[in-house]
Amino acid sequence: MKTMTCKQLGGACNKEFHANSFEEMAEQSKKHGMEMFQQGDEGHLQAMNKMKEFMKTPDAMKDWFENKKKEFDSLAEDK
Ligand SMILES: [Zn+2]
Repeated sequence: MKTMTCKQLGGACNKEFHANSFEEMAEQSKKHGMEMFQQGDEGHLQAMNKMKEFMKTPDAMKDWFENKKKEFDSLAEDK
C-alpha cells in the first residue's frame, strides 16, 4: 500500500488515500472530490475548477496523469 494526499492529487486538503495502484488511488481521490463537491467545500470547488480547465487540453491531462503515476511509483510502500 502507498499513501498520497488529496493535495498531491490536485485536491485541496490533507486527507490521505491508501492504495495498491495509482488507478485505485485516483479513484479514491475522485470519490472524495465528489463528496466535497456535494458538500460545497470552497477549497475543493476551486481545485476542481482548476482541474476542469486543465482537462480541456487532452495532452495536459495525460501528462498530469503520467507524472502523478510516476510520483506514485516512486513512493515508498507504507509500513
Ligand atoms: Zn480533499
